[in-house]
Parts: sequence; structure tokens; C-alpha cells
Amino acid sequence: MELINGNQIAQQVTEELANEIRALPENQRPKVAFVRVGEDPASVSYVRKKEKTAAAVGIDSELHLFPEDISREDLFAEIDRLNADPSIHGILVQSPLPSHIPDQEAFDRVSAEKDVDGFHKVNLGKLCQEDSSGFVACTPSGVIEMLDRTGINIPGKHVVIVGRSLIVGKPLSLLFLRRDPLGDATVTVCHSKTPNLEEITRQADILVAAVGRPGIIRGHMVKPGATVIDVGINRVEDSSRKSGYALKGDVNFEEVEQVAAHLTPVPGGVGPMTVAMLMKNTYKAFQLAGDRA
Ligand code: NDP
Repeated sequence: MELINGNQIAQQVTEELANEIRALPENQRPKVAFVRVGEDPASVSYVRKKEKTAAAVGIDSELHLFPEDISREDLFAEIDRLNADPSIHGILVQSPLPSHIPDQEAFDRVSAEKDVDGFHKVNLGKLCQEDSSGFVACTPSGVIEMLDRTGINIPGKHVVIVGRSLIVGKPLSLLFLRRDPLGDATVTVCHSKTPNLEEITRQADILVAAVGRPGIIRGHMVKPGATVIDVGINRVEDSSRKSGYALKGDVNFEEVEQVAAHLTPVPGGVGPMTVAMLMKNTYKAFQLAGDRA
């Protein structure tokens, strides 16, 4: 079994990007605004990681923090302000937002040209139409980039995705379906109402788990020789750790490593790819803004 090293692949992606940004004229740098509401510990840690990676590749960033009880109207006014600021090329609203502000409404409030998360309905529509001028969500595009850089062929393969969310499963299914050398797969998408999940997952040449249930993909659910991509990031109690928790994927690693030919670990798999693709999207937003000017 070959472990797919997401840290290493993400590093390649960000180094290539850093070289491109270094070559820009001194006064031209991409800039991203991070919007975080409240103090959800996972959100705090994700945004911190994104800020650090941005700094490492030469992208400027601004953090906009708001209290948990900010009204929907006030948050949207802040997003409008960032939309109107020409010095900002990308805007990321960290989810989950408090329950009185629907995540998708906030994603759609960000101008489609600055939607580096790729969650805006215009960008989801462009993905559906195979129009490459839009932004593709970072986790799905990170999965494809990872497969490509590992040399795993996609065309003609049967891909099974477990999970149909708008931020992972659904856009990833569209990427695999594209008429493209990194697409052209036959795609099956499973979810919580899918009966006999294991019968379907066992048919996968490439199996992607994006569920949010630790260890749900067991060894007997995987075809021998398959490629298994574990998108899940689950905080599981672990008193032996200082933090009190460990990060676990949706894949039962010990069982699946006996069966799969390629497997991504958690942490150190898809997670770093997501951050790297966010940087690529920010650079694309910067370039598109330059083209429009
Ligand atoms: P959602 O909760 O939005 O979606 C989960 C999906 O899994 C749903 O489609 C749901 O079905 C399906 N599901 C739930 N239970 C089962 C089950 N028993 N059998 C089959 N399918 C099931 O989660 P996200 O897509 O946002 O995230 C999924 C995981 O990926 C999480 O662990 C999250 O933390 C992680 N993640 C990791 C990222 C990274 O960078 N690596 C980025 C984003 C997410 P239904 O639609 O019927 O409810």
C-alpha cells in the first residue's frame, strides 16, 4: 500500500505558486480576506492555518473577526464592504456560521469574482457547465490535484463518493464527470439514505469518503487494489493527548491499509491540499481582477 502524502503534494503546489508570486512586480500582491464569526475551535484553527500558508506563499491576508451574535444584516454589510474593496481579491467566510445566519446565504453574498471558496451559486453553476472561468471548491479540486500528482488515472474508472454535500461530495462528483483528462470517470454518489452501502463501495476503483463519521469505511467495504481518499476530519476524544482529542478520518485506517493500493492519511492527507487550492484560487482571483482592470 502506498500512502499518499498530502503534506508533501500541498508543499509542491504552494512552492510553485510562491515562485509565480515572487515574479510579480513589487507593488502587486494577491490579497485575501478571512471572515470568522465566533470562536468555534475548529474554525479558529482552520483560519490560522490558512493565514500561515498565505504568508508563506506571499499572499497578503486580513482577518475580520465578528462576535457570535452579529446580526445577519451586519455581517452581510461587512461582506458588501469587502466586495467593494478593490484591494481585496478573495474573500473566505469560514463555516459553520451561527445558526441565525445560513451558511449558503453568506456564501452567495460574497461577490462571485471573489469567491475563492467556490461555494457561490454562480461558481457551482459554472462547474456544472464545465466553464473553467469560475472557482472550484478547494477540497474537491485538492482531491483531483492529489490524484493527478500521484499518477493515478481517472478516465474510465468507477469512482464512488460517499457524501453529497455542496462543499465536498457534489462538486467532486461534477469534477470526476467532466469531459477532461482528469475527469471522464463513471461516478456513483452515496449518502445516508443509500441502502447496502458496502455493495457499492466495493465496486469503486477510487473511493472517496466525505461523511463526517470516524471509521465508517471498513476494510471489507473496499475493493482490493482500490485508491481510497479520506476527506473526513473528525475530532475524537483522546485523553492521552494534551488537546484532549485526536483527528480521525472517515476511513478505518488499520483495516483499509490492508486492502487498498493507495490511501490518504488523516491528518496529512486532503486537509493540506484544501489549503493549497485556496491559495491557487486566490491567485486566480487576483489574475482575473487584473484582466478586468
Ligand atoms: P456534511 O455533513 O455536509 O455531509 C455529510 C454527507 O455524508 C451527507 O451527504 C450525508 O448524507 C452523508 N452521510 C452521513 N451519514 C452517512 C452514512 N451513515 N452513510 C452514508 N452517507 C452518510 O459534511 P461535509 O461534506 O461538510 O464534510 C464531510 C467530512 O469531511 C467531515 O468530516 C468534514 O470535517 C470533512 N471535511 C474535510 C475537509 C478537508 O479539508 N479535508 C473540508 C471539508 C470537510 P445526507 O446528505 O443524506 O445527509
